[in-house]
Amino acid sequence: MATTVPLFGLNLTDHTLSEAAEYVAACVRGGGEQTINFVNAHCVNIAAKDKNYFAVLRASNVLYADGIGMRLTARMTSVSFRDNVNGTDLFPCLCRLAAQRNIRIGLLGAEPGVARLAADNMKSQYNGLSIPFVQDGYFAENNIDGILESINVAGVDLLLVALGVPKQELFIHRFRQQLNVPVAMGVGALFDFYSGRVCRAPAWIRRAGMEWFFRLLLEPQRLASRYLFGNVMFLGRALVRRIQGRHVLQFKSL
Ligand code: UDP
Repeated sequence: MATTVPLFGLNLTDHTLSEAAEYVAACVRGGGEQTINFVNAHCVNIAAKDKNYFAVLRASNVLYADGIGMRLTARMTSVSFRDNVNGTDLFPCLCRLAAQRNIRIGLLGAEPGVARLAADNMKSQYNGLSIPFVQDGYFAENNIDGILESINVAGVDLLLVALGVPKQELFIHRFRQQLNVPVAMGVGALFDFYSGRVCRAPAWIRRAGMEWFFRLLLEPQRLASRYLFGNVMFLGRALVRRIQGRHVLQFKSL
């Protein structure tokens, strides 16, 4: 049984990357339906303002802490996560296990053509990998029933939804009952990276916890508010709660 770390009213699971991949693969064969999401500083900022999104995160079966902000906040409570478990680093581990264990992956999200490129890249690296469902993330509301049906007909075991935060988590929550998929995960910009459309930060920048800064340099207009203003807001939130002496950092609404 993995340790969970309570932060901002959310229970975050302390898995290593390989434990997380094994956990997801076990869930696929476990007979239940799991929803797994990743929580970073941006998610916490949105959850602080949007109670519905916060409730959706809390309803997830498993949440992983993603990014330097979550790690620093955990350290304020004298806890440290063993790994930075985010969708982008987890994806190759999942593809390796999926190819070995006949787990069928579905990709939903990103701009037209991007998820297909990511699927082709991964299939060329992992022999036997099956990705029977691929769909971009710019669909009309009246196409959703058809998309859900295609996912179910394709027999997807693991659905990765890349519609951005909070759209992807809300989408999974809203349609979870209609999806006959053992595991669904919200994965952010993952397909952009694995398609080669967006360059990922070099490993040393990621290790230093500065991937956000690299992304900011690549897309300053879109990400300036999220990272510059957002990071300050996030750290302020964490510090205020720490000064108030709350060991378990919680939102007031709880
Ligand atoms: N996206 C999408 N449909 C939408 C909005 C966004 O498919 O309606 C995709 C977008 O093309 C990108 C991903 O969602 O591939 C989210 O990217 P972002 O950089 O915001 O993700 P994060 O920083 O949360 O990982």
